[in-house]
Amino acid sequence: MEQTVIAVDQILHEALRVSRDHDDARVVRLDIELSPSGHIDPEAVRRELVAEASGTAAEGAELSIVTAEHHYRCSSCGQLFTSPAGSAAVECPACEESAVALERPGVCVLTSVEVANPASGSD
Ligand SMILES: [Zn+2]
Repeated sequence: MEQTVIAVDQILHEALRVSRDHDDARVVRLDIELSPSGHIDPEAVRRELVAEASGTAAEGAELSIVTAEHHYRCSSCGQLFTSPAGSAAVECPACEESAVALERPGVCVLTSVEVANPASGSD
C-alpha cells in the first residue's frame, strides 16, 4: 500500500535551524504550504507538528497551514496558470484548450518561519 510521506520532521528541522540562527529564539509562527496533489489533511499535519515540536524551541508555535492552488500548463499554447479547481484538467484561459495539472515538488513546504525577537520581547 502506497502512503503519502508528510515531511513534517523536515519542516521542523528547518524551523529549528532558523531558531538556532537567532540564538535559539523561540519559534512563534510557521507558515506551511501543502501540495494540492498530495491530498493531505491539514489537521493531520498540524497534529503531527504539534507532537513533534513538543519539547523543542518550536513548541507552542502558531501554525498556518494552507493548501496551495493547482498549477496547470496548457498542452496547446504552453500557458501556465493556477486554478483552485480540483479537477485534473481545466480549460486554458488563453486558448480554451484543455490544460493538465502540474505536479509540484514535495507535498509539504515551509514557506516562512517567525521567531521571537528578544530585543522587542514583552519582558
Ligand atoms: Zn492554451
